[in-house]
Amino acid sequence: MLTCASRKWLVVFLALVWGAASGDTPSGAQGVSTPYGAVSLPFELHKIPGVPVYYVVGLSGVPGADNEGHTSNAGFVVTDEGVVVFDALGTPALGYRLLQRIREVTDQPIERVVISHYHADHVYGLQAFKDHAGNPPVWAQRLAAGYAEGSRATQGEDAERRLQQRREALFPWVDETTRIVAPDETFADHAEFSLGGVSFELTHLGPAHAPGDSILLVKDYGVLFSGDVIYKGRVPFLDSPETDVERWLQGLDYLVKLDPQPDYIIPGHGSASRDMAKAIAATRGYLDFVRAAMRRAVQEFVPFDEAYESTDWSAYRDLPAFEASNRGNAYRIYLEMEAESF
Ligand SMILES: [Zn+2]
Repeated sequence: MLTCASRKWLVVFLALVWGAASGDTPSGAQGVSTPYGAVSLPFELHKIPGVPVYYVVGLSGVPGADNEGHTSNAGFVVTDEGVVVFDALGTPALGYRLLQRIREVTDQPIERVVISHYHADHVYGLQAFKDHAGNPPVWAQRLAAGYAEGSRATQGEDAERRLQQRREALFPWVDETTRIVAPDETFADHAEFSLGGVSFELTHLGPAHAPGDSILLVKDYGVLFSGDVIYKGRVPFLDSPETDVERWLQGLDYLVKLDPQPDYIIPGHGSASRDMAKAIAATRGYLDFVRAAMRRAVQEFVPFDEAYESTDWSAYRDLPAFEASNRGNAYRIYLEMEAESF
């Protein structure tokens, strides 16, 4: 018969053995090993209550060693005939962690991986799915095809230069063996498919933050994966010649008018929400604010530097990615407003 105290020690001992065996030390430096480097982040899996939809939430800020490149969200839907994955995270190691999390939930095959848009923080994990999940087809809006070929002409991000940058910023998780996986199937405006009796609807809402921005609606479960059309908890990135803020705002209007409204919204960055108006408020508020400030400056012939310095950014200054993105964003909008005024 074990005494209460010895039973307690047994539990502690088993926990230690289990922790060492799995290598799953949430805060430890050792981390969970993957074929692409160890991941030491907790990498918590969230589940939408009552339905087989799961997601992970990235940390705020720009990708770097401190967050191991885990700055974006991804999710998956389990059906009786397989799994549909939405987005693949920002390193092959994180893609592999996502795959491990899927395997903790189900043995169903990965039937397809849908990508919201081709930017590094959402696609570098594809490699892990290609190499370790039976080579599932990757779906994306057709403008993604150019990105995968290394062209900057289609997604507002110079793919080759970005890869070099991440090989430095995110080594060892992104290294010489990291490759950009091209989509296998593309769609133009809209695509529908069903798997295991669950219907999926893909809609192109770009060009918005990126030309290919697309959303995935899982109607049966009232879940919307919005990709980066909705950013939460950080300053959005719009400093690209292909960001179309006007159309981005239209995309947000489209989401507000979705009928019926989804019960859960999982954005490209930031926490999930249950209310569309609240979910889009941060993105819309920021876009409106920058546009109004820069429009005023252009109308009053105030040079950009002066306009930027005199704008009260206090509502955004403390947000992650402010330093990295805000000035470039504002300048991009200033130029747009200037072009419009001629
Ligand atoms: Zn993103």
